[in-house]
Formats: sequence, structure tokens, C-alpha cells
Amino acid sequence: MPFFLNAKVRDLVPYEPIMGDFPVRLDANESFLRPDSVAFEEIARAVEGVAFNRYPDPTAAALTAAFAGYYGIDSTRVTAGNGSDELLSVLLTAFTQQDDKVVTFTPDFSMYGIYATLSGCEHMPLEKKNGQLDLSAAQGIRARVVLFSNPCNPTSLTIPAEEIRRFVRSTPALVVLDEAYMDFSDPANSLLHEVDEYENLIVLRTASKALGMASLRLGFAVTNERLTAVLRAVKSPYNVNAVSQAIGTALYSNRARVRAGIEQIRAERDKLVDLFNLVVRQVPGQLALIGAQANFLFVHCTKADDVVAYLKEQGIIIRQFGDFLRITVGSAEENTLLLAALQEFYGGESYA
Ligand code: PMP
Repeated sequence: MPFFLNAKVRDLVPYEPIMGDFPVRLDANESFLRPDSVAFEEIARAVEGVAFNRYPDPTAAALTAAFAGYYGIDSTRVTAGNGSDELLSVLLTAFTQQDDKVVTFTPDFSMYGIYATLSGCEHMPLEKKNGQLDLSAAQGIRARVVLFSNPCNPTSLTIPAEEIRRFVRSTPALVVLDEAYMDFSDPANSLLHEVDEYENLIVLRTASKALGMASLRLGFAVTNERLTAVLRAVKSPYNVNAVSQAIGTALYSNRARVRAGIEQIRAERDKLVDLFNLVVRQVPGQLALIGAQANFLFVHCTKADDVVAYLKEQGIIIRQFGDFLRITVGSAEENTLLLAALQEFYGGESYA
């Protein structure tokens, strides 16, 4: 007998990261920093202390305490996940019923739509005008969940906290605010410290960006007591492995080092923006920097296909979205190679 796929998975397209060996990877919004030797010693000690024969702590108590300590929040409001990706999937399953509407905005993080569809919801992606997030566009829709990133992946733009507060207060929907990149932007635009003031707000954070630990798969949902109880009840009990818990605990406990890492990434980002703007001025009308609030730049490019292909030939990988480029901030050396290649492409003088 033929086996027919069910409707909600029939047309799903798997997330396709760019594979292959490229010397300069600026495609996945990862950190360019690797732990220094002292951090590696702390990591090794943390791993040595893991009880490998035991299941991990289902509450990830030490990890959530270290995370909460770093951000100055109450750890009883934190649920850890196997990356914020897992938390997105868990919370969309938990807080929706079949055929509920889930509103997202395009462009935004592509996995939102996949998890919404998988949870049996009607996914309603609202087109942003000129890439600008306008929450009032969701106002008339009886949505169960409204989900967006701030700063936004891929636009690298931020909207003010006050706009989000107003929206959260005015909607009966659950608002899922993904602050994966907030550490690189203005902390005044974060709602991380305000979750107890609302019945309907979940803030997501991750160790993949600011902490530079995408390999560990650690994400965090921060929300009020009532919603935290639901998240902890519905997640699989041992969702965060003990090795990641131990390493994450050690790393978040060193506040000064986490801050220094973020500062280093921000400094490289700002340098890259300045130098990139020099290239922009040399090719009027061809390149425009749209946003740089995160650890990546979002750029309008009239020759996006050709630029991406040329960079790839030079061993440099970035992400393309139609006429737009998303360029992760790399190390000083990687950024110099990128700028030199762009200069070469546009026939100008090389930086290298
Ligand atoms: N949210 C946003 C906005 C992202 O860009 C990403 C990863 N690119 C994630 C969540 C997923 O992060 P994690 O590594 O914690 O699963």
C-alpha cells in the first residue's frame, strides 16, 4: 500500500545550512571567538565533574542559576532548552491548539514558520514594509501566538522596547520575543527583566551568539511563573545534556569574560561597518547597509548573485536573501579578507 504523507509535513523544506569547507565562514551568525586557554581549563574541569552514568538534571538548576546570575534575573523564571530552537518547538506545541493562528513577520528567522506549521497551526507570515517590523499589522488578527526576533535576523534592525510593551499589553495573544542577538544591541530595548509584568510574554535567549557556544545547544525561555510551570511540564525531562549544562554553568559564571567577549564582537562589528561604508561610498547605488544591530550586517546589493558567487570562489561564505546579503561579523583577519574581496569585485583598491 502507498504511504501518504500528512499535509503538515508534505511540503516542508528542511533547513539547509551551507555545507562544505570554506576558510572564511560568515554565513551562520556564529561567534568568531574560541574559548581561551583558561576557559578551556574550566571547560575540562566542568566535563570531568559530569556524572556520565546518570541522567542530567531535568531542571538544569545550576545552569539556569548561572544564566540568571549573568543577566540579573530570577532563575525561577528560566527554562533551559536544547538550543532556543527546541524551545520554539516546545512552546508552539504547548501554547496552541489545532488551527490556532500563529503570526510571524517576513523576513525573520525561518524556523518560526516550520515549528508553527508542525504544531498544527495556521501560520500567518505578515510581510514587513521596507524590512521594518510593524507590530500594529498583527493587531486585527485573532492570533494565538505572535512571534518575532529583536534585533531581527536577518535585517539586523531593532525596534524600541516601548513599541513591544504597548503591543504585549494590547493583545490577547502570547508574544514570543526572540532576543537571540540583544547582547549586541542596546540593552534598553530588552524586555528580559519585565516578564513578571505581563501574563503573555516569553523572552528567548541563547548561548549560541553572545556566549559564542553554538556547539553546546543551549537556549533559554524567560517568562512569568505560570508560563514557566507549563514549559517545564511539557518539555522532555532530560532535554539539555549534562555536558552542556556543566560547561554552560562554568562559562556563564565568569561574568567578566562573557562581557569581554561581547565587547570584542561589538568592536569588530563597528569596525567592519566603518570599513564597509567606505566600500559603499565607492559604488554609489550598488550597496546599502540596512542594519548592523546584531553580530551580522544586512546589506542591499544590486549584484547579490555575482557578489555571493565571487566571494565563494575566494573561500568566503555569506548568506543571500534575494537582493540582500547577510554577513556575519568575523575576526579582524576574516573581515579584512571579506573587504578585500569586495573591493576586488567592484574593481577598487584592495585593503589586503
Ligand atoms: N533565534 C534566532 C533569531 C536565530 O537567528 C537563531 C539561530 N540562528 C535561533 C533563534 C536559534 O538559536 P539556537 O542556536 O539557540 O537554537
